[in-house]
Amino acid sequence: MLKNVTHQIAIPAILEVGRGRLAHMGQAIARAGFKKPVLFLGDGIQKLFGTDIETAMVGLDVIKAFEFDDNRFEQLTQIAFTIPSSCDVILGIGGGRVIDVAKYIAFLNNLPFVSVPTSTSNDSFSSSGCSLYVNGKRSSVQARMPHGIIVDLDIIRSAPEKFIYSGIGDLVSKITAVYDWQFEEYHGRARIDPFAVMIAKKSVNSVVRVRFDSIKDAFFLRELVDSLTMSGIAMEIAASSAPASGSEHLISHALDKILQTPYLHGIQVGVATYLMSLVHQHRFERIRTFLTETGFFEHVRSLGISREMFKKAIDLAPEIKPARYTYIHLEENRITAKRLLDEDPVLSSLLT
Ligand SMILES: [Zn+2]
Repeated sequence: MLKNVTHQIAIPAILEVGRGRLAHMGQAIARAGFKKPVLFLGDGIQKLFGTDIETAMVGLDVIKAFEFDDNRFEQLTQIAFTIPSSCDVILGIGGGRVIDVAKYIAFLNNLPFVSVPTSTSNDSFSSSGCSLYVNGKRSSVQARMPHGIIVDLDIIRSAPEKFIYSGIGDLVSKITAVYDWQFEEYHGRARIDPFAVMIAKKSVNSVVRVRFDSIKDAFFLRELVDSLTMSGIAMEIAASSAPASGSEHLISHALDKILQTPYLHGIQVGVATYLMSLVHQHRFERIRTFLTETGFFEHVRSLGISREMFKKAIDLAPEIKPARYTYIHLEENRITAKRLLDEDPVLSSLLT
């Protein structure tokens, strides 16, 4: 019997990315054969889009709409067990937090999940992972690939710019993530999946090469959303987060543990990506140009991220995933990374 010869992966059956898609969300859900959705609305969504959502869902029997995006594991599991058994699909509408919460609740109920992100702060809307607070700390938890993805570019554009910057930071990290993964394989500590590598590389390359006047250009946003979606698929192909998450993500996860109030995932990841690309000596010029031209660095400068905390995160990073073997797992590279925070002109201007 042929086994493990080719991959069988789950990919979303609904993929709607474009302008004005929220208004047609119900039709896409109905076309996919669902009749009785339960909705989870993120913070502020009811106020901003409540009427639009209600109109969009006409013809469907919406069982319940929860205004709930509490990403503490203990809280969301309580809600998870109140989902009526007649529900046939769960929708998460809002920012990254409600996407993760609704995705995990759908997973616990063995129900299909449809992602309707209103901002593009990371690739969670198209991946099986969730970022939840477990015992008070932000942690990565596995769920299942969304059954559908519906993205209204008009809404993404109207969201605060910090979410677009966060998406940019999370996307550009595929460059360092793939490099770390290849390093890991070179040292016999992992086996890369060539198809996942190809998709991850293509996803980031199409965005860093796109010409744009503003990050709010419809064309740029479309590229960003498509590429973040592809990044989620790359992880699914690899059955691991490795093609989308290397040493730069470990530094960000470490910051999540150290900081009282962590910054947006993609903001932390983007800074760590530029740092690690310097350590790698690989494509750092491209990353620097892209993060400068998009305004990402300028945004980071306004945040006042602590250099000392970043150094602590570099030291803690290997412990986040001790079984992996990325550049940051080697002490000499951690020393270089900490030195670069002081000496690289861009990095020294970003942190305080
Ligand atoms: Zn990420």
